[in-house]
Amino acid sequence: MRKILDSVLDNKRLTKANAIDLFSNTPWTEMVKAAHQKRIQLNGKKYASYTVFKTLNYTNICKINCNYCGFKCSQDSKGAFVLSLEEVEEAAKDCQANKINQVLFQGGVNPNLNIDYYLDCLSILNKKYHLHVRGFSPVELIEFSKIFNLQMPDLINKFKNAGLCSVPGSSAEVMTPKMRTHLSPNKPSAQLWCEAMQRIANAKLQSSSSMIIGSNETITDIVEHLDYIRTLQDKTDHINSFILWTWQRQTDFPIRHVSGVEYLKTLAFCRLYLDNIKHIEVSILALGKEVGEIALNCGADDISSIVINEQVLNSKGLTTTEEAEIFIKNAGYIPLLRDFNY
Ligand code: SF4
Repeated sequence: MRKILDSVLDNKRLTKANAIDLFSNTPWTEMVKAAHQKRIQLNGKKYASYTVFKTLNYTNICKINCNYCGFKCSQDSKGAFVLSLEEVEEAAKDCQANKINQVLFQGGVNPNLNIDYYLDCLSILNKKYHLHVRGFSPVELIEFSKIFNLQMPDLINKFKNAGLCSVPGSSAEVMTPKMRTHLSPNKPSAQLWCEAMQRIANAKLQSSSSMIIGSNETITDIVEHLDYIRTLQDKTDHINSFILWTWQRQTDFPIRHVSGVEYLKTLAFCRLYLDNIKHIEVSILALGKEVGEIALNCGADDISSIVINEQVLNSKGLTTTEEAEIFIKNAGYIPLLRDFNY
């Protein structure tokens, strides 16, 4: 395995077969050591970055019905909500008051909202309050294009003109057919997700990528998923970062505990496989600060964010800039405040 690790550090690309072999036969300590070297090659050893944004979940009404999701509601459920334009404006004012200039604008796929609702929200957040709006997901955009009967490029252009600044590459989970059926049988396939990401890149909107572990995924699923992302990035070069999440319990849907060692080994492996994505983020929000600190020496160079108003996860994250900076300094790096697009 040493030969494979050395060749990756010599800028040779991991093949799928080598990658499976490497993951299966390399102790986690060796993997993280190599990933840290790769991190230094790509990002140096001085800085670790973070960002600040507010999450704005505009609705929890969703027709997709993912098996694990505890956030979704049907139209007539007791807790169902859609933010009014006034509430969106209040949130924008709150960002301004707290010197936050980025907002993550996401929700369920609510078939009852019309396109003007989205255009008005984007316009309030971006044109009126000058916030960078990172909005929706490839899955939301695919579904909207069906609901509004618009070609994807036209939909994205409308949103972009209204104020959409970038799109997170979320809703990917683990994109093999087996895992899609297990987790989210109604979500679009990996091919459609990649096509949507290509359209997002064509519109010159930057993006990100992710994976979530802690279900019944195998190393073959993981490599397949990473390969979709790496192949896409070869074509688009619009993915700034990759973040590895673990499933958080939301319902009775079975998830398993991911140990710190498994998380770090997988994160390191992702660093080595995704040779064309510059930044690897650790999800302190899901993993906690202890693993987060070690992760900065296992391939990650970014702690993602301090997050305000996250409704989907029970936050174990950092909530102030000061906390983020102290955290990074304690890990041995100089903190670097970045924006969504690095
Ligand atoms: S995870 Fe997202 S797409 Fe899936 S049901 Fe929940 S809100 Fe809808």
